Amino acid sequence: MQEGSITRLAGQSPDRLLELWTTAQKIFSQELRTGCADRTVYGGAERFLSNWASSISALEGSYPTWAEAKRVLAILVDYGGRPPEDRQTAARDALELMGQVVERMRALGSSPPSVFSPQPSAVSSQRPARPSPHPQFGQPLPEGEGKSQRPAIPPATAVRRASAALRVAQPTLALDDPVLAMKGVGKQRAALLRKLGILRVRDLLQHFPRDYRDYRVVKRVVELMFGERASVLGVVEHVQVLPGPHKRFRTTVRVRDESGRLTATWFRYGYAGVRLAPNSRIAVAGTVSGFGGQLSFDSPDWEMADSPPLHTRRLVPVYPLTEGVSDYWLREVMSAVVPQYAPKLQEHLPHWLLQKYGLLPLTEAVLRIHFPANPGEVIEARHRLAFDELLMVQLAALKRRSEWQAGSVAQPLVLEDDTLDRFLSTQPFVLTEAQRRVIDEIRKDLCESLPMTRLLEGDVGSGKTIVAAVAMLSAVAAGYQGAIMAPTEILAEQHARTLHESYGRAQQFIEELLGRPLRLELLTGSSKKADRERIYRDTASGGVDLLVGTQALVQEGLGFKRLGLAVIDEQHRFGVVQRSALREKGGTPHLLVMTATPIPRTLALVLYGDLDLSVIDELPPGRQKVKTVLLTAPERSYAYEHIRREVAEGRQAFIICPLVEDSPHLEVRAATAEYERLQAGELSELRLALLHGRMKPSEKDRIMLGFRRGEFDVLVSTSVVEVGIDVPNATVMLVEGAERFGLAQLHQFRGRVGRGSNPSSCLLLTDSEEESALERLRTVASVSDGFKLADEDLKLRGPGEYLGFRQSGFPDFRMADLGDARLVESAREAATELLRRDSDLALPEHRVLAARVEELRRAESS
Ligand code: ADP
Ligand code: MG
Repeated sequence: MQEGSITRLAGQSPDRLLELWTTAQKIFSQELRTGCADRTVYGGAERFLSNWASSISALEGSYPTWAEAKRVLAILVDYGGRPPEDRQTAARDALELMGQVVERMRALGSSPPSVFSPQPSAVSSQRPARPSPHPQFGQPLPEGEGKSQRPAIPPATAVRRASAALRVAQPTLALDDPVLAMKGVGKQRAALLRKLGILRVRDLLQHFPRDYRDYRVVKRVVELMFGERASVLGVVEHVQVLPGPHKRFRTTVRVRDESGRLTATWFRYGYAGVRLAPNSRIAVAGTVSGFGGQLSFDSPDWEMADSPPLHTRRLVPVYPLTEGVSDYWLREVMSAVVPQYAPKLQEHLPHWLLQKYGLLPLTEAVLRIHFPANPGEVIEARHRLAFDELLMVQLAALKRRSEWQAGSVAQPLVLEDDTLDRFLSTQPFVLTEAQRRVIDEIRKDLCESLPMTRLLEGDVGSGKTIVAAVAMLSAVAAGYQGAIMAPTEILAEQHARTLHESYGRAQQFIEELLGRPLRLELLTGSSKKADRERIYRDTASGGVDLLVGTQALVQEGLGFKRLGLAVIDEQHRFGVVQRSALREKGGTPHLLVMTATPIPRTLALVLYGDLDLSVIDELPPGRQKVKTVLLTAPERSYAYEHIRREVAEGRQAFIICPLVEDSPHLEVRAATAEYERLQAGELSELRLALLHGRMKPSEKDRIMLGFRRGEFDVLVSTSVVEVGIDVPNATVMLVEGAERFGLAQLHQFRGRVGRGSNPSSCLLLTDSEEESALERLRTVASVSDGFKLADEDLKLRGPGEYLGFRQSGFPDFRMADLGDARLVESAREAATELLRRDSDLALPEHRVLAARVEELRRAESS
């Protein structure tokens, strides 16, 4: 790079200027002669041009050619990157302009240079010895130099004036004051911050960076290495704004320090972007790249050199943003707020706990998470804050559990080995190892007088129902009642039927055991009034042994005589609320929650921290694997052909319509349209039914039951199609827009078929050509293990999306990584220890903590 070609030639400007122009002429004439291969200048013509332009800009005196020079640059912009034909046109145009300039200058009486010199600083031997003429930081620029520069755009002093207001002392506010009370935050900004969930000053402190840019290394230009991230302090030598493609402007700023120069380039719409005046002393920070052999920064961060390091020269926090809130502005806000208010945060963890788990005090953690001095501080701060989040969740869960178990004594429900064996011997299959194991776990719990709180996880078809049947039998055999609650009528009805069959097979034996027949009833929203009244009465009197139902079970007015066990199926449909409501139905029943959504262990600890975990991780033998095939749009007709063939064989099919995110309404419309299209077209010979979430529950059930009875061949449905519904005769699952669903959800759909003895298939249709989407679908096609898919899905989408839990009070983790098993376990341990010391968190030093846990519990149950 050429140094210092700026002011030293002031005495011979006209000649030097002419020389610059004729040099450019020569270079581009040579280019034209050699087919515009961009070989004339070592490193590319653009390298020459940028030096050339800055030299001209510096030499502007009585021969103003700057305007033309800019036009030349505009004509030749991105010369090296354009195709040769384009270059030829550009070179010709530029040469024509250069010709005019040279002619004009000659007419004004300057002589042409005698030496061909592609290097504008061929005369650099004339450079004066040091001290260099370049300004040092903190010193004003020499008179002449300042004047010799022409700013490409008017100097703007309004650079971030708005944000500067934030750095002035803020009035003293309370943590719970609204952000609107802050200086520099008006109504408009407050409204924007609200979009980020920031209402109070406290929320700002909790708006943590999502990442950091490491600009800690401050280097001189000569020390910069290609590809490295660094900050540089320098003087703006020259500013150039050129129109670029798509109505954007390219602002190129030449920055110089005592060792050399670099170019910073920003692409912005209009001129609103970066405004810098020549001679400003700035700090720029970014990743060093090359541009025509020159050192450059693409869209670097920057700030005035004499302001304290905030956007450069440090670990710079990168915040989650929203439209209208710029990273610069928010960072300014944070730099004003964090140091002032973080010290006001009250520590809610006791000292011993901080010490035992090596946690930073809260204030310290918040200060560091926003403005860390080094990556180590980020790790420490994150550790503390993540621990906090997990601890709160564990405390809430353990308190819920202790409330469930508190004071009240559950009835030990002992099921003798002998009784179990006799019951199982009547069933048409042998239990799998996994079923045996979880039954043992459950029986052990049921023997205790502390109520069981257990989560039973098992993939669709893994055989959870028989496990529930055994648990229920324990209750009945011990003289207690049992209840099973399912999320929909159809599932409740299905459970009632299956249990009825199961117990029916052991009828004789059960009658011996009880001294009478077992009485099982089904209670749903559509039970007839007379039935309902009878069931209410007999449940209260103890005449009903097992009650299967929907949420009708937690209805006011229903009471059990002696409820020994409550089973909740498909837990994720129910909140914590229903769980406790069911419990209030009578005494302190044992609780068994069942889910077909595979939940990895750490996530289960977080989500169901109040429950012990049992997993059925094995399918019954001889299950037909559902063949999963990925189809693209043009192959859709094969899918219909396959459906027609299967229906001709007497089978049935599901067609799932694409998920329309956040718009159940559009989804219903799309499903309806698809139903009509198919009925009128490809599947016109078949009997189709439509199912969607806007239908009344009774209507949905009518259609589902009709489908199960074989009244329809094909069920076209939105994604609401009930999980768990058993239609053994269905052998085809066609999922439209498969790429929009999560892996676990696709697996659930797939579980709807292959439940009978016929080979079944799952057809995943996608219009997407995105490799990542196709890759995900291929994963579903090749992996049949629901747990493996769940892990994968969780990694890809995070727990909220994975479980569809966002709406039902899933804790909003900002810091905690649920994959960090050790942290989750140690938070669990700490919560246990805390509650052991102070079971109600009633000690004064736990006051703040108790309040935060209560806040979380309120959010969870809302
Ligand atoms: P899910 O876990 O999805 O609720 P189900 O309990 O409905 O599964 O069981 C699915 C099917 O597998 C039922 O038809 C059931 O009778 C059958 N089944 C359950 N356990 C076994 C087993 N050990 N061997 C063979 N079939 C079984
Ligand atoms: Mg089930």
